Amino acid sequence: MATSAPAVTDAVIVGAGPVGIYQAFQLGLLELGCHIVDALPHPGGQCVELYGDKPIYDIPGLPVCTGQQLVDGLLQQVRPFAPPMHLGQLVSTLERQDDGTFLLSTTAGIRLKTKVVFIAAGVGAFLPRCPSVDGLRALASTQLHFSLDALQARGNAEHVLIIGDNEDALQAALQLAQTPEQPGRAKPVVTLIHRRDAFTAEPATQRAFRDAVASGALRFLSAQLTAVDVKTDAQQGVQKGVLQSVSVADTQGAVHTLAVDQILVLQGLSPQLGPVSGWGLAMQRKMLQADPATMATSAAGIYAVGDIAHYPGKKRLIACGFHEAILAAFAAAHHIDPQRRELLQYTSSSAHLQALLGVENTAGS
Ligand code: FAD
Repeated sequence: MATSAPAVTDAVIVGAGPVGIYQAFQLGLLELGCHIVDALPHPGGQCVELYGDKPIYDIPGLPVCTGQQLVDGLLQQVRPFAPPMHLGQLVSTLERQDDGTFLLSTTAGIRLKTKVVFIAAGVGAFLPRCPSVDGLRALASTQLHFSLDALQARGNAEHVLIIGDNEDALQAALQLAQTPEQPGRAKPVVTLIHRRDAFTAEPATQRAFRDAVASGALRFLSAQLTAVDVKTDAQQGVQKGVLQSVSVADTQGAVHTLAVDQILVLQGLSPQLGPVSGWGLAMQRKMLQADPATMATSAAGIYAVGDIAHYPGKKRLIACGFHEAILAAFAAAHHIDPQRRELLQYTSSSAHLQALLGVENTAGS
């Protein structure tokens, strides 16, 4: 299959957390274009994923804002530069080309050719938690899913196993159990398992779930997945594993075999360093070693900013990440064009910067 030509850009930012977004803003002020990629389906990194509605009190000049409000402000600030954002996908490969540029590819098949790379990967990519059971991961996207939408996109499911105890898991179970009978479309048999007979979903959802179990609309087992039974089929000459059933062990240790053709795992997300650790960059305690003057990593043209960066005295705070993004932007501009003379300009007084930002120049330059 022919692959299309990669999109060409000055910079790629790996991670759309607060520091990645601010990196794009700083690059915009230096007239460098960029693309941003994040594994999450929305920008904001830890601020949105872990504490979107909680207050932050130590952002300079903002006495209090929530994680989501901070990210909304950052997105508004970067809007004049409109960096393309590729969300819901992991940057999986990063290769240096013979001409000194880099080629990055994502798990969604996007390819980007860039002069410099900023790794703003925080504590890692937020990826779905999944039980570690032999053969399970290999079923991903055919019979293993991490969202109800993805499961429903597969069409007819006869026996669905849901793993999880949170709001999403119980809501998904209820929604699937309420699927109306349709001609030619079987109503799925839905089983939810969780290792304890207690849930973290909202109380009202828990009540609705328990009612549905009591009425026989769906089944609950206090159990853990222990094995998947996969039959290998040859289809059009390709060996393919097809899920037949699963084994689950209940709290007494008894093993049950359940006929299952689709598994939906809804156990939340956890950060995983993933591909970043395989790009050959010098690391220290799961962080990328960076020069604190330029945020350059051990590879020329690749910069580390925010929580992923390590140097003596590093503090994993948002304000520190913002500072690093400024230093990295200037260093990258010099790397791209060593002849370029970069005068420090103020947004409060530079007509040029104000023109880039599309704001009215009221102060003169
Ligand atoms: P992150 O916010 O972690 O974002 C990194 C992004 O990179 C993620 O979205 C991830 O999915 C993505 N990513 C990683 N690898 C890849 C890849 N290969 N491909 C695609 N995407 C990838 N700091 C403060 O200053 N003040 C506070 O009050 C404060 N409170 C906090 C409260 C909590 C509960 C936590 C957990 C942290 C708090 N912090 C606080 C720390 C702050 O959230 C971090 O310093 C900040 O989020 C770092 O931003 P970042 O952009 O470097 O990384």
